[in-house]
Amino acid sequence: MQPRRAAGAAGAVAKKIYKERHTMTADECKQKLIDAGRILENAGQGDLTRGHVSIRVPGDPTHFYMKPHSHGFDEITMENIVVCNLEGEKVAGGGRKHSEVYIHSEIFKARPDVNSVIHTHPTYAVALSATGQSLKLISQPAAAFHDGLPYFTETIELIRSQAMGAGVAKALGKSKAVLMRNHGAAIVGASVEESVILAILLDNACQIQLAAMAAGGIGESFDVDNVGKLHGTITQSEQYSINFEYLRRRANRAMGLPA
Ligand SMILES: [Zn+2]
Repeated sequence: MQPRRAAGAAGAVAKKIYKERHTMTADECKQKLIDAGRILENAGQGDLTRGHVSIRVPGDPTHFYMKPHSHGFDEITMENIVVCNLEGEKVAGGGRKHSEVYIHSEIFKARPDVNSVIHTHPTYAVALSATGQSLKLISQPAAAFHDGLPYFTETIELIRSQAMGAGVAKALGKSKAVLMRNHGAAIVGASVEESVILAILLDNACQIQLAAMAAGGIGESFDVDNVGKLHGTITQSEQYSINFEYLRRRANRAMGLPA
């Protein structure tokens, strides 16, 4: 009976997290952003201070909280979080806004279903984007992107205007993420738990594909329907919440903070 009891406990944790998310105060939402930053840094997604993560303000879909410029993912605080509107303008918060804020504002504009956006330069995702190859559904992390991983190919430059941000949002379409050729990736989620876990899965999926290609090429794989069933299993909101909570505890332990 042990597995059933364990599953029940995990379900209770997920339900608690889900309830919290939908009744979050401003401070609770900001704390989620801080947690997300620590997880992403702990996962090696920082690229110095260049990555960023945002969450829509609870109850106000026209504004979002975002990590500040000049700080690492693990240096987000209640005081330095930036509040921006859908025009990409800073309206509050102690920090300086990232020049690539338009990736976030234009995706939030185009995708009402999205409540969190991440932009990073993860090593393996950038490497795969440089090959021009599509992501192959040859691993469990890759199965999370069974519904497609499009490319943005307009420029390698920073996304510093509304028009450029709109280009990224257009390339993203209805997908969970978009590879930005020779630059990085933009990943989205209905929750920050989803966007963070997908960001980590994406880089892992790219790493596995590059390793398989380097080891002699990709062999026989499973059919799309089979992978589609796995996609349904691993993209449940409960899975995102449980894994986010684990990674939050792990990141805090690594920083010497209470789990
Ligand atoms: Zn960038």
